[in-house]
Amino acid sequence: MVGNHLHHGDLPAGLSFGDTVAIDTETMGLLPHRDRLCLVQLSAGDGETHLVKFGKGAYDAPNLKALLADPKVVKLFHFGRFDIAVLRHSLGVLTGPVYCTKIASKLVRTFTDRHGLKDLCRDLIGIEISKQQQSSDWGAAELTDEQLKYAASDVLYLHKLRDKLNEMLAREGRGEIAQACFDFLPHRALLDLAGWPEVDIFAH
Ligand code: MN
Repeated sequence: MVGNHLHHGDLPAGLSFGDTVAIDTETMGLLPHRDRLCLVQLSAGDGETHLVKFGKGAYDAPNLKALLADPKVVKLFHFGRFDIAVLRHSLGVLTGPVYCTKIASKLVRTFTDRHGLKDLCRDLIGIEISKQQQSSDWGAAELTDEQLKYAASDVLYLHKLRDKLNEMLAREGRGEIAQACFDFLPHRALLDLAGWPEVDIFAH
């Protein structure tokens, strides 16, 4: 039985997630300037999850901020571009270093255009996850068991996916370009927040 630990306002002090922590966020919607951060989910990839719930405007979370900025801990996301922007806007911290399973998938799984978390879990590790609670009210005072279970499932498998994707990146000789993309990703999130969300800055 996996353990989901719910915290309010910040992570407890002294919690360690090893050298790579899987992270996801739940918000009121898709616009970081409008839609507040409600929940941050974290896992060391050991079946345990820690869920940090935030009240409106209550983003004084020194332990979580320290982890997000810790240069010795890789933050592992699926479509980190959004989460990094939200975390920057809400907590004021730029997350790094990072790894994104969606970018890795796009670089190696060129035979498909299906790079959603559900697709990766099914295709790479044979696990079916539900996306049913994705568009529920994450700002509610009390989250339901279904919401907590869904939120946890978004970080439970990212380490396994990263391992599979790293094998494919090595096989196809794309590890270096993947790392360059991960290194740029926090800056891409800053561009989103600063007013270039839909613009490819490299385009003619
Ligand atoms: Mn999620």
